[in-house]
Amino acid sequence: MKNRSLYKKFGIFSLLCVLALIGKSTPKKELIPAYQKPELSIELRLNDLMNRMTLEEKIGQMCQYLAPQHIQEIRDRMKKAIALDKGDIYCLYPGLEVKDLEQLVIDGKAGSFLYVKDAAEANHLQKLVMQSRLKIPLLFGIDAIHGDGLVNGATVFPTPLAMSSSWDDELLRRVAAATAEEVRATGMHWTFSPDVDIARDPRWGRCGETFGEDTYLISQLGVAFTKGYQGDFGKNNILACAKHFIAGSEPSNGTNVSPMDVSMYQLREVWLPPYQAQVAAGVASFMAAHNEVNGVPCHANKLLMTDILRDEWNFRGFVVSDWMDIEHLCDPQRIVPTVKEAAGLSVNAGIDMHMQGLGFFESMDSLVREGKVPLKRINEACRSILRYKFMLGLFEHPIVDEKKAERVLFNQPHQQLTLEAARKSIVLLKNDSNILPLKKVSRILVTGPNANNHRILGDWVYPQPEKNIVTVYQGIRQQFPASVVDCINSGESIRYPVERSMDEAVAKADRYDAVVVVVGSNSLRYDYNERTCGENDDRAQIDLMGNQLELIQKIYARNKQVIVVLVNGRPLAIPWVKRHIPAVIEAWEPGAKGGQAVAEVISGAVNPSGKLTMSFPYSSGQVHYTYNHKTSHLFHPFIDEPSEPLWAFGYGMSYTKFSLNGLQIDKQKAGLQDTLHIKVEVQNVGPVDGTEIVQLYIRDNYSSRTRPVKELKGYQRTELEVSERKIVEFNLPVSDLGFYNEAMKYVVEPGDFTIMVGDSSRDSDLLSKTVAVE
Ligand code: BGC
Repeated sequence: MKNRSLYKKFGIFSLLCVLALIGKSTPKKELIPAYQKPELSIELRLNDLMNRMTLEEKIGQMCQYLAPQHIQEIRDRMKKAIALDKGDIYCLYPGLEVKDLEQLVIDGKAGSFLYVKDAAEANHLQKLVMQSRLKIPLLFGIDAIHGDGLVNGATVFPTPLAMSSSWDDELLRRVAAATAEEVRATGMHWTFSPDVDIARDPRWGRCGETFGEDTYLISQLGVAFTKGYQGDFGKNNILACAKHFIAGSEPSNGTNVSPMDVSMYQLREVWLPPYQAQVAAGVASFMAAHNEVNGVPCHANKLLMTDILRDEWNFRGFVVSDWMDIEHLCDPQRIVPTVKEAAGLSVNAGIDMHMQGLGFFESMDSLVREGKVPLKRINEACRSILRYKFMLGLFEHPIVDEKKAERVLFNQPHQQLTLEAARKSIVLLKNDSNILPLKKVSRILVTGPNANNHRILGDWVYPQPEKNIVTVYQGIRQQFPASVVDCINSGESIRYPVERSMDEAVAKADRYDAVVVVVGSNSLRYDYNERTCGENDDRAQIDLMGNQLELIQKIYARNKQVIVVLVNGRPLAIPWVKRHIPAVIEAWEPGAKGGQAVAEVISGAVNPSGKLTMSFPYSSGQVHYTYNHKTSHLFHPFIDEPSEPLWAFGYGMSYTKFSLNGLQIDKQKAGLQDTLHIKVEVQNVGPVDGTEIVQLYIRDNYSSRTRPVKELKGYQRTELEVSERKIVEFNLPVSDLGFYNEAMKYVVEPGDFTIMVGDSSRDSDLLSKTVAVE
């Protein structure tokens, strides 16, 4: 009996041992939580994960921090006493050490970082988060605005304003896709782009980040960017972010962050459509704007972030705050006295993620416990952030191959693409007596503050390897191998010009067959003290800053064969240059190969095709001149200046000539459900092959509320060989002819509409016909 029970006990013991061994050798399927199973649907995984999360872990997903190495670099720079008074901007996380930041990750109190340095730092942080309870991968954001320019060695494309001058949606889509590939190769997942602000005030330093002044064009190009970035959320795609929601680009005095008062009609008709187009295109995130709109800061604006964005447009992504703007609700906006109240106000209005900074986590935690922020709001925010982490496959592949960036960044196809983008972005503004393309020149002088440096890269760029960049001078040397090409430094500082720095260039100007003077602005953000353009570098005067005009005038006094090349981030008021200088090229900030593209335009290897997407005012006093102004806008003209801009929206020259003839519309009368089929014949009647950008505008001739003199409704780039003719066609739904009436209802009012087609927004460049809408 005794033995039998011993055997029995031994048997049970052995069975348990075997079971334990089996348990060790085969993974316990049921122990893998559902959210970690890629074979399940994202919604199932999300539900499972949300059910497991504590309140702290959920709030953690809403918290973003600056990456440790970035903080360290800024601290080092600050030690060198640069801009110490801007503690707010450089936000150093006082008292916080790298290990404390890392502990936040391990504790599940961080969901995102920005400005992660490279793939190695990205992997380091992802490995840390794998030590947290739920191992939720981190989301890394970066300002890859025109290429991943904050990363050393990345491809810097022309700025968005430059590329918008190409009017080429597909080009922009490809640029964004290439940017996404580079961003992803460095371990990042999310860019704070596109900026779909309407840039109608060139005093504002950020014009270069936008696609110009027109609602329709911005909507199209913004969508192209978002599609390029996001693709199908594959391994080479990133999240896009539509910013800055809303109206910060026409601040009351031209300075960044300053308030904007705008009627609801204007908001609906001018400002909101590009954002609505982003939602329709499936953009993953929005960023709220720094400014207030009609007295309500965008970061506390429930009407914008909830009523319109979520309830009306059905946006399912997440909204991130902009840099320190929740804190700015206390000061300077003075809506509430404490940062905790500001956090509550923002999140209740619709903010889902706090862009970097300390204290948000604690505020949110106590606000929820005190019942001041409903748990529902935290759940919504957390869920929408997590959804994109699943969509990007971060749960499966949080770690990246650290060698990949070397293969992808600035690879041959991307170099070719930035060159193509620069070629298509350049706008020829003036070419008297066909001085361009330059022929039979044996000696060329290149000078001016932007002749031979990296300012062609624009804002949102950190220092790039010399070998990757072709400056304007280098480009001209390459393009004119048989000529003597000299560069004389006339002083590089635009902001603080040194007396007599231009003397040598001026003195020698008459020894050359042509002088290329490269002027404009400096948007390089690492050149803090010398910057004249870019974020927070707004201007009261939009002329050529410093002694640049004097340089041009003195050179012109000695040599009439002057070509002015503008390398700038905003339109400039340069009436003297327009009047006197025979050739003017608007290069904007044309990116890494920009100097080559400029030189190819000068030599004629490239026939320029870009058209302006922002009007050039005569002076700072004329700044609110946009092509789509209201009818009474200049009823009484200025007594001291012309009533038209210096160069108009849609304007740009070519080395060939195009004729537009035979505008046809298939209907003279149309119903609300109809689509107008519009045709025009374009012919290249000049000496070389070229590209014309044909533009379609409309005007509502009489309406119950006042309407703009014209509104862009379509455009097409058309390549034409010498003598070639093509028919350019547009389909314009009558429903696109509407506006918001007194009752804030979108209506198309019956009556006559003028349909205009041409090669710029100027009346003299347009053919027109009338259609009656019944
Ligand atoms: C800018 C944003 C940018 C953010 C992060 C802010 O100052 O307004 O456009 O995305 O900084 O760099």
